[in-house]
Amino acid sequence: MAEKVVIIGSGPAGWTAALYAARANLAPLVFPGRPSSQMLPGGQLMFTTEVENFPGYPDGVTGPEMMTHMRDQALKFGARVQTDDGPESTVKRSGDFDVVHHWQDVARVEFKGGSPFTVFGDKEEAVEAHAVIVATGARANYLGLESEQKFLNRGVSACAVCDGALPRFRNKPVVVVGGGDSAVEEATYLAKFASVVHLVHRRRELRASKIMQRRAFDNPKLTIHWNRVVREVKGNDQDGVTGVLLESTVGEPEMEIEASGMFAAIGHTPNTDFLQGQLDLNEKGYIRLTTPSRTYTSVEGVFAAGDVADDYYRQAVTAAGTGCMAALDAERYLAARGVH
Ligand code: NAP
Repeated sequence: MAEKVVIIGSGPAGWTAALYAARANLAPLVFPGRPSSQMLPGGQLMFTTEVENFPGYPDGVTGPEMMTHMRDQALKFGARVQTDDGPESTVKRSGDFDVVHHWQDVARVEFKGGSPFTVFGDKEEAVEAHAVIVATGARANYLGLESEQKFLNRGVSACAVCDGALPRFRNKPVVVVGGGDSAVEEATYLAKFASVVHLVHRRRELRASKIMQRRAFDNPKLTIHWNRVVREVKGNDQDGVTGVLLESTVGEPEMEIEASGMFAAIGHTPNTDFLQGQLDLNEKGYIRLTTPSRTYTSVEGVFAAGDVADDYYRQAVTAAGTGCMAALDAERYLAARGVH
């Protein structure tokens, strides 16, 4: 028998969609994804230490803790998780990392024939679903340096709004890499806490919009290093990041900058490879939503929530909000088709 609704992804969008769908008695089946070098079930928040901007946590919460809360809340109301042994409605308590290795990812989908859709788990078994919510998120691009990987969460971050206010960056110099709107926005944000912000860009011209450029040029705490790329993140076990080594793209000598952190702001990549040819994606690979203020995609009955369809806001709270919207959209779609 076909599932009423399958949810792909287990970040704030996925679990919030699962919570709402479960409370609507749709017994949603969640494909949370498997741990890999690039992503964990729970999504980008699994790589975030302290979350201080999600409403309801006045004392902050760690990203993994928050995702465990969201998961447990969805399961409590009847969401199920697709595992190697089939759908399970309970998960051993939080923090049991072995468990998530048995959680399934989606290998591919068949949306073209319309509802019911077919979702293939990564063990190739097919699950049919009357409605599907895609909430697979996006992953931050990093520079790809070994030294960067080493200091991830110990000074290296890809989210100033998430991590910028942490004590380690306060009144200390920090580095932001990139030349787009995100880089300028992150640098401007960090300038509120840091003693000085070094913006490192590989060209002599920012990609950011003119108004953002002006903001960067006018900020006295912001220094731009043109035609430079980070060759190495410097640091040690005790202090984490202590600086960066910058290489010139135009033949100038190398230089080292002291810094307590390095923020990569060089774009994101949406997790949409498994959707190729099945849903309309935009030129950057994000799912194209078809109707303002709705979570509709190019296929009726398939909805999208969170960062997989949003390269603009990219916040846990906005992802959770659109997860709720997707579940409500799916519920109404199913009701109109007589699926209860
Ligand atoms: P983006 O516009 O694609 O900019 C990425 C930046 O990173 C570019 O300057 C690029 O350099 C640089 N870069 C890429 N790969 C690099 C690498 N390996 N090493 C060094 N530098 C690298 O991405 P974004 O800034 O995240 O913006 C994404 C979208 O969101 C844009 O449409 C943007 O307008 C929008 N946005 C808007 C706002 C706002 O209006 N408040 C805020 C944030 C984002 P090059 O320039 O040399 O290619």
